[in-house]
Amino acid sequence: MQNLFLTSDKKARKEYNKLLKQTAKAVSDAFVNESAYSGPTPDELKEIVRQDSILPEHGLGWDKVFELTKEKVLPNLLRTPSTEYMPHLHGPSLLETIAAETIISTFNQSMDSWDQSPVATEIEVETIRHLCKLYGYDTSKADGVFTSGGSQSNQTALLLARDWFCNKQLNYDVKKYGLDEKCSKLRMYTSEISHFSMEKSCHIMGLGYKSVEKVPVDNRKKMDVSALRSLIEADIKAGNIPFLIVGTVGTTDFGSIDPLEELSQLAREHNMWLHADAAYGSGVIMSQKYSDRVKGLSLCDSITVDFHKMFLMPISCSAVLLKDGSTFDALTIHADYLNREEDEEDGYTNLVDKSMQTTRRFDALKVWMSFQTRGRDGWSKIITTSMENAAYLYSILRNDSDFAVITEPEISSVVFRYKGNDSLSGEELDEINKKVRRTLIHEHGTIIGQTVSDGRVCLKFTLLNPRVTHEKLDELKELIKKLAIS
Ligand SMILES: *Cc1c(COP(=O)(O)O)cnc(C)c1O
Repeated sequence: MQNLFLTSDKKARKEYNKLLKQTAKAVSDAFVNESAYSGPTPDELKEIVRQDSILPEHGLGWDKVFELTKEKVLPNLLRTPSTEYMPHLHGPSLLETIAAETIISTFNQSMDSWDQSPVATEIEVETIRHLCKLYGYDTSKADGVFTSGGSQSNQTALLLARDWFCNKQLNYDVKKYGLDEKCSKLRMYTSEISHFSMEKSCHIMGLGYKSVEKVPVDNRKKMDVSALRSLIEADIKAGNIPFLIVGTVGTTDFGSIDPLEELSQLAREHNMWLHADAAYGSGVIMSQKYSDRVKGLSLCDSITVDFHKMFLMPISCSAVLLKDGSTFDALTIHADYLNREEDEEDGYTNLVDKSMQTTRRFDALKVWMSFQTRGRDGWSKIITTSMENAAYLYSILRNDSDFAVITEPEISSVVFRYKGNDSLSGEELDEINKKVRRTLIHEHGTIIGQTVSDGRVCLKFTLLNPRVTHEKLDELKELIKKLAIS
């Protein structure tokens, strides 16, 4: 490698071009077939990647290292665009967003202050404005910021909700004075199958797991609103202080959607904040056919949107949106070296004022480019296809007596269990379901999910990839049956 960086120098530009071309060729050459994985076990992979040193005394040079990477790494990476990859809410990257990533890392803007990311800041602001509109917010008041992922979006929302509530309802400034006695009585409500970032966030905020009240779900895995109402009333009686309800829009396993309209009503009654964790389900808004399923999002005080799930963008890419952007004040702290107060007055936006992160990626570019590239119709097709695939899989599994399906999918996840002809015990079937998933990984390069429902091991297809066809789903169902009895 002759040059350190891409510069205006002709040789440096040539080297940059060559590097990207070489890399693109090696990456595309690694797509040898439709399977998602080449199959090695953990021990085999350890053997493959073991090196004498990753920091040799003298550099090996680019050519050698590129050869090593081609030999050891590329063949064993999961090919996430494969139609045989469907374990988690983790999908392939749309082509235009890979181009965006190249731009992002080459220019390496940092989103904390305007002077580190002039046009990037303006693009993030504009993208956030459009997102607020998309989810039904009044754009003259709403605001948002990109984050590292749904967990951080949730944490940001929970923190802002807590500070808002303490300021408005308890007349107490947590930001300045930290937690006091009253704060130990704060309670938030979320379903028993919500994401663990709720507990983690409450731990980080000093409220502890005890502040998280888990509400039971009904047989469709949606939050039981009458149970929620009773919990809130009991807490008030006991002297606790309910401050927040979190509705999950697309639970991580089942894709079930909590009843936001009813949650919103309850939140208003008790002057609580309502947050929507739509890390998964935020994509449903793009489907012309199904967007009604998430229309309650506009009622929520804040929304977590993940672009590295249904939206098929490279990790990381997420945003948190607030109905009333002024609530971000809780995160603003001025520093002479970064975000001077005078900057704002002069029209220079420093996005760090809304963010938990300081140095931050220009992830908004991926959304900005991809939304324009595909348009409403292109996006609608992507999301509708994955949702229809889930409906199809549900129907074929339900009509096959060898399987039990847990719930009818509301988005694009299907959780089910091989049960054969009912002659085997629950434990035996647990082992069979586990074995099927492992065999699929190592012998077929096919990766599906596994979870537990009602204490029993289940398999899961998370159908984010619109290239999956009904024939593929038929085939996989038959393969699972074959593996289960072998
Ligand atoms: C994935 C997920 C999260 C966490 O998002 P990350 O981007 O992985 O941090 C939060 N909530 C739900 C419902 C999720 O599915």
